[in-house]
Amino acid sequence: MSLSRQGSNAQYTRVDAQHHDDDDDEYENEARTEGTVDELVESDDPEHPANLIPELCRGFYTLGWVTGTGGGISIKKGNLVYLAPSGVQKERILPSHIFVLPYPQPSVVKAHTERTFLRKPKQEGLKESACTPLFWNAFDLRSAAACIHTHSQHAVMATLLWKGETFEISHQEMIKGIRLGGTGKTLSYLDTLVVPIIENTPHEEDLTDSMNEMMKKYPDAAGILVRRHGLYVWGPTWQGTKTQAECLDYLFEIGVKMKLMGLSVCPAKEGGL
Ligand SMILES: [Zn+2]
Repeated sequence: MSLSRQGSNAQYTRVDAQHHDDDDDEYENEARTEGTVDELVESDDPEHPANLIPELCRGFYTLGWVTGTGGGISIKKGNLVYLAPSGVQKERILPSHIFVLPYPQPSVVKAHTERTFLRKPKQEGLKESACTPLFWNAFDLRSAAACIHTHSQHAVMATLLWKGETFEISHQEMIKGIRLGGTGKTLSYLDTLVVPIIENTPHEEDLTDSMNEMMKKYPDAAGILVRRHGLYVWGPTWQGTKTQAECLDYLFEIGVKMKLMGLSVCPAKEGGL
């Protein structure tokens, strides 16, 4: 069964219960399965995704990660995915602006296809983020609990100075904050961090397939850089995703500065310790 409804009085029910197995029992308890659509985004819990997304976007705005309406975040909780809208100032997002989608979707999430929603905001002009199929890559391929997309200048500069297929850096303390594949165990100081870079496209959704292919080619990658554009990063929890984003951004920034100063960024390959 699938439903796509909106409106304060509309009722919703869970879209698809067939994918649940024993491992999902915890999620069954977490995710509400019936109620009004606005109840999906109304909560006194500050850690409810509909409250977290506006708070995190405000923080990311001040970091320059989601300015000019670019960038965004999505949080998955159980069988629900919460999505920040496009078409709104990122530091002024409200819980009522949040889209809620069922996970998984009734059909494969691809670029330029329609999605099924449990809730859409009533305010006119708000659109589902064009990042949705890219966030879905992180949910499907890495079982991520959240995905953050930044337009950080540090990420963009890294893609300009590293002209090949990967950004690489070694011998930095902050590498220890990065998780294998984004959701596995954390790396060691002695590990070299490798972040794949894909080429940008005029339309965000058209990055979906190349991101998917690169995530499969580099299963240990904790994020995907998009040349002249930014970063997609995910994690095992929303907190873990935020940590990954902070550590990666730090490493892009210091890597760029070191490279511009002629210092060895990756002594594991280049020498120069
Ligand atoms: Zn973008």
